[in-house]
Amino acid sequence: MLVFAKIKSIQENIKSLEKGTSIGFVPTMGALHKGHLSLIERAKKENDIVVVSIFVNPTQFDKKEDLINYPKTIDQDLTLLKKINCDIVFTPTADEIYSNNIKPQLFNFDGLEHQMEGRFREGHFDGVGTIVKYLFEIISPHKAYFGEKDFQQLQIIRKMVRKNHISIKIIGCPIYREEDGLAMSSRNSRLSKEHRKAAPFIYKTLKQVKNQFGTKNVLEITKWVENEFKKQPLLKLEYFEIANEETLQPIKNKDFKQNYRAFIAIFADKIRLIDNISL
Ligand code: AMP
Repeated sequence: MLVFAKIKSIQENIKSLEKGTSIGFVPTMGALHKGHLSLIERAKKENDIVVVSIFVNPTQFDKKEDLINYPKTIDQDLTLLKKINCDIVFTPTADEIYSNNIKPQLFNFDGLEHQMEGRFREGHFDGVGTIVKYLFEIISPHKAYFGEKDFQQLQIIRKMVRKNHISIKIIGCPIYREEDGLAMSSRNSRLSKEHRKAAPFIYKTLKQVKNQFGTKNVLEITKWVENEFKKQPLLKLEYFEIANEETLQPIKNKDFKQNYRAFIAIFADKIRLIDNISL
């Protein structure tokens, strides 16, 4: 496994690959878990080589505290990646990516960026767009893998690729969960014992929403979810929304020709967790 921290070195290596070598790319912020590994395994199956990037991107954090406290486990990550035979790892510093100007580019994702996460994390998707676009330019993969765990991000990347005529195939991968249903996330390691015990309630509620979607209307479901969380002292609901999968616009009424998803964000003390379910 080759590890590069410099843009020039990884580009030289990629240029030296035999012509026609297909590259699968999995961008991450490290603190790797089985959710990340499921994306990497899929990329391995579908490509000749796999590149994983580990970069905690400062411009996508709206809160400095969240950036500082984001788990960083680089040695452990590299051991894991070596074990599963990852080919190339890219571990740039913030200076390498941004030089001395840690500022995001501004994007127009046709409104996708103003929904849900965009409403609560100002500038988040400009940061995501900036880093993913740049990593795509550096690595030039054929396919790139993103988790449905961050479904809004996945749709935004698809939009960015379409709008900029970037010839990379974007592959969405299912959410990988703990046995008790909690969506795997690097942030889970920061949960207290009590909060970790309470957190599976998020997916349990989403599954009940899925069951109710056929018979109840959106307002009734939303009220029900809000009430359920009021009974959970350790989990504070930030938003719950049922939205169209393509436009991410919240819906009031169902049109059974469209695909919908329920989205949720909660705080477990200071730790923010998100999840979603296809309806
Ligand atoms: P992150 O390191 O959190 O930026 O995540 C890197 C990639 O892994 C993103 O495309 C995420 O959507 C994806 N990912 C994170 N957690 C999961 C999970 N539990 N299941 C599937 N994909 C995930």
